[in-house]
Amino acid sequence: MRIGLISDIHANLAALEAVLNALGRLNPDRLYCLGDLVGYGPFPNECVELVRDHCDVAVRGNHDSGVIGETPLRHFNEHGAKAVEWTRSQLAPENLQYLNTLPMTHEEKLMTLVHSSPLKPEKWTYILDWKAAKKCFRAFDTPLCFIGHTHVPAIISEDSPIDELRKGTRYLVNVGSVGQPRDGNPRAAFCFLDTDQWTCEIHRVEYDVDRTAGAIINAGLPGFLANRLSAGI
Ligand code: ZN
Repeated sequence: MRIGLISDIHANLAALEAVLNALGRLNPDRLYCLGDLVGYGPFPNECVELVRDHCDVAVRGNHDSGVIGETPLRHFNEHGAKAVEWTRSQLAPENLQYLNTLPMTHEEKLMTLVHSSPLKPEKWTYILDWKAAKKCFRAFDTPLCFIGHTHVPAIISEDSPIDELRKGTRYLVNVGSVGQPRDGNPRAAFCFLDTDQWTCEIHRVEYDVDRTAGAIINAGLPGFLANRLSAGI
């Protein structure tokens, strides 16, 4: 089975289109989304519709949760809160309804999917270091657990942070962000898992950053959200 995994799209349509094109060439059997379809970016309806049409499974992110009123605005920083309110005003009822249907976690034989952390997912904790990552392994039983939320890709085994899969070891994989990378690399990120070959890779693709940055400004969203995209921060 070949599975594409995407996260933290943040209503960045140009980035999502570039990732879906790149994924299409890899011919996945399934496509999974780890949440934060919206927030920060200027194309929430288009991105929700693409995820709904292309993804077999999607879980809820903190921005999705903020937009549907589950997570209070005080959870977000100033720019994030503004974008949550703007997104709520823009989303078509059926797209809000779709965000409402997203579960917090999804589990199947080989993997657990959760936006922030398998430890108390509703707390939206950031897994920022090896110590925090290690604690996560007690909170899932599957060989693999995929997360997003920090916008920084990483493949971490129970024993060490590494970058390729070995048999018999469990992994926590942060798939990175489609729409707002924060690892200093502005290219959109996604993850590709091949369960027969037992390989897992983070891919990066160029997209039209200026198109998204211009639309953020035109929408009246904070300029900081436009400027950070070209730096990948
Ligand atoms: Zn996010």
